[in-house]
Amino acid sequence: MKLVTPFETSVDRTTERRIVLVEANVDGVTGWGECTAGEKPFYSPETTDTAWLSLRDFLWPLVKGKEFTSAADVWEILSLVRGHNMAKGALETAIWDAEAKQKGVPLSKLIGGTRTEIASGVSIGIKESLDELILAVKKELASGYQRIKIKIKPGKDLEPVQRLRQDFPRIKLMVDANSAYTLNDWPLLKQLEGFYLMMIEQPLGWDDLYGHVALQKKLDTPICLDECIHTEEQARAAIELGACKIINIKLGRVGGFTVARRIHDLCQKHAIPVWCGGMLESGIGRAHNIALSTLPNFTLPGDVTASKRYWDEDIIEPEVTVSPQGTIAVPQGPGIGFEPRLERIEKLTVRKERLA
Ligand code: MG
Repeated sequence: MKLVTPFETSVDRTTERRIVLVEANVDGVTGWGECTAGEKPFYSPETTDTAWLSLRDFLWPLVKGKEFTSAADVWEILSLVRGHNMAKGALETAIWDAEAKQKGVPLSKLIGGTRTEIASGVSIGIKESLDELILAVKKELASGYQRIKIKIKPGKDLEPVQRLRQDFPRIKLMVDANSAYTLNDWPLLKQLEGFYLMMIEQPLGWDDLYGHVALQKKLDTPICLDECIHTEEQARAAIELGACKIINIKLGRVGGFTVARRIHDLCQKHAIPVWCGGMLESGIGRAHNIALSTLPNFTLPGDVTASKRYWDEDIIEPEVTVSPQGTIAVPQGPGIGFEPRLERIEKLTVRKERLA
């Protein structure tokens, strides 16, 4: 699927997505899941192709023919495989969708969600020029989005933040570095504090908890961890060591709803707010993100936005839309509450495998 606008982070520029979808048949009921792995291993070690292999050769054989009473039991079965969370998440979330459909309830309700609408913010990629950035921010604010996040990297950090604060002194603003800095850069990150950011997301190494502990001690602005948090244990360590004050939860990064909920509950217990990040998902992954964001401790606006910000035409019906107040209504139909557009999916499909 070709993105409406190329998306640039500190590590890569994405113009089109090659997405693995899982269609799971659970006692005759079909659930859908999306793998959030990128085409290249630049965000996490997984890729579209490793996920395919892992699903086919290792994860599917574990669940094949297994009896389980709830989707909540699936994580344990898959945990024999180490890592490969995005592949696991694709399968696990599809089974959650199927269970919600079997029971005739919205997925958000099945996982324990309490919201009927979620707050929506945007993530804006690195732009060539400041004027281009300002224009993009204006457009998103006019659409109603509640908070602006910009991607930063060395050389494209202080200046854009300063300019945004000058032009938009009152907006909710945050930055995401996707691990572009080292601890030695702390004086520069300290300078960002003058612009009252909501948080600085994942400034240091993708697996560097220790560095973030040291950095958070030097900063008043909350650090939010994304890449670092791929297990419940990692979340516990981050919280107890003081590596962050906010956590971005992504279904793929943690392997699906079971672990996402455990991290959510753990954060809630420690008064650590959470929000839902985005992985340039199609409508299927977007729908799962909406359900996840209904859990009570998702108190900050997430990166879950309208379909049309990413795609000319999404693969679900109806498409995800955002109100002028910057909210997304949580669907009340069974499962993910959006219908996969089978014909369109078929047309976009380049590879298919049926495992039985
Ligand atoms: Mg991030």
